[in-house]
Amino acid sequence: MKIICIGRNYAEHAKEMKAELPKEPVFFMKPDTALLKEEDFYLPDFTKDLHHEIELVLKISKAGKHIEEQFAHKYYEEIGLGIDFTARDIQAKCKEKGLPWEKAKAFDNSAPIGKFVKKSELDLNNIAFELKINGETRQMGSSKDLIFSFDKVIAYVSQFVTLKVGDLIYTGTPEGVGQVHIGDALEGFMNGQNLLQLKVK
Ligand code: MG
Repeated sequence: MKIICIGRNYAEHAKEMKAELPKEPVFFMKPDTALLKEEDFYLPDFTKDLHHEIELVLKISKAGKHIEEQFAHKYYEEIGLGIDFTARDIQAKCKEKGLPWEKAKAFDNSAPIGKFVKKSELDLNNIAFELKINGETRQMGSSKDLIFSFDKVIAYVSQFVTLKVGDLIYTGTPEGVGQVHIGDALEGFMNGQNLLQLKVK
């Protein structure tokens, strides 16, 4: 399986990163070794500024290529919560030099994933989600603020990359990204339901 991540998909986050609003989706990938399921996260020693990015995650349920936006909803049945961990200091250096971001984004365990909810139980245009650290809210977002909808993202990405069953699409983070520290307890909520718990060690 592969992990596809959408960057700058919320205007307020693009603003805090001092990035322009994208005219088409920005995406990058993480390998399957990035996935972290219900385990502790060990802070890697190659970064001094590891950031959390809480994101809604689509689980692809049907293989497809060149998927039209009007049919994209048939390619996922479940939505979950994940964290796109980012070594912000390394990413800044990559950006400065115009280099790829993989070193900052694709490292082992950089994609914690929580539980999934059936799409049929959700109002896709208004999924509220939140990240708490040590009980304090750090990021809040809603799918209503996505620049590119789930279906647009699937249509766009599948022009370039074949989607396969089990692939995950991290759909972008809202504003409020920040540093995590050893000892932090992270919790992700979707519509008030706790779907992700993670300890930083
Ligand atoms: Mg992200």
